[in-house]
Amino acid sequence: MKDFIKSLLAILVLLLSCAAFMFGYSYSNLQESGFLEYLRHRQHPPVADAPPAVSLQRCAGAPFVLPTGGWVGVLYGDTILGTFNHSGLDIFGANGNGVTPVYATYDGYATRYPNWVSAVVIRHPRDPLRPDRQIWTYYAHMADATGHSYIVDQIPPGTVELKVKQGMLLGYQGDYNGYSWREVSTHLHFSIVLDNGEGLFLNEMERVNTIDPSPYFGMCLRSNCADRSAVCR
Ligand SMILES: [Zn+2]
Repeated sequence: MKDFIKSLLAILVLLLSCAAFMFGYSYSNLQESGFLEYLRHRQHPPVADAPPAVSLQRCAGAPFVLPTGGWVGVLYGDTILGTFNHSGLDIFGANGNGVTPVYATYDGYATRYPNWVSAVVIRHPRDPLRPDRQIWTYYAHMADATGHSYIVDQIPPGTVELKVKQGMLLGYQGDYNGYSWREVSTHLHFSIVLDNGEGLFLNEMERVNTIDPSPYFGMCLRSNCADRSAVCR
């Protein structure tokens, strides 16, 4: 019996040191990335300091409208828990699931794979900033944690190349997180994804396959932007 308690204690100590290490490691990375502010925001959404993004806002000279409203909490290139190089923008609406609309940022053709619960991708045959190439915009987390989708009925699973106009409603922000171990709060993940040269989008989770969205919105929205706010530059 004593041996059993000893092993139990040993396991407990091991687990605690693992947790402490993980926290210490994450914490140092989080500080660099503004992620502490993100955690604060998760606890008190309405009190975030930076001015929030305004749905459909378009800066002078920029081609895209903002896809949704809320606090732009995680920018392009931000590091989360030291393991993830953020490939887009996370915009957190303050009002919970199924409330804050998500819109197409630019004219294109929308596709939703048959097994896509929360995501839509739009093909833009001409990159407005580099018309010689095709790009894609990707919108995710438009469902609740149980998989109830908030994507509009016009874009059911299996949709292929539906023509969409800039500003068309795609769905609403949610907190669906697929199979990831990380819990998320209600937001939109948005990224601009490169084409593989054969008419398909590359893996949007890898930052090298994506583009800094800043010039498309006329805002500074990458990790080294000091004030981290959605204002026209
Ligand atoms: Zn994201």
